Amino acid sequence: MARAICPECDVVFELIAPHLGQLVDCPACDQPLEVIGLNPLELDWADTEDDFDFDLDEDEDFELDDEDLDLDDDDLEDEIDY
Ligand SMILES: [Zn+2]
Repeated sequence: MARAICPECDVVFELIAPHLGQLVDCPACDQPLEVIGLNPLELDWADTEDDFDFDLDEDEDFELDDEDLDLDDDDLEDEIDY
């Protein structure tokens, strides 16, 4: 028996025979978890789709930068007219 802490909700629960890479569901929040360490017993989120969400956020910031560049181009055209 080994005690594990859910990284999602911090609840402590026991695993009977944990091994590295084992996939378990948190009994409190049903979060899919993976055993990443045995001494001490450590759990991490088994679902890695969060990484893709971070990439999408970066792309949104890049689009905002493009809008700023367009505003600069308009300013340059006004100067040429003078
Ligand atoms: Zn949990």
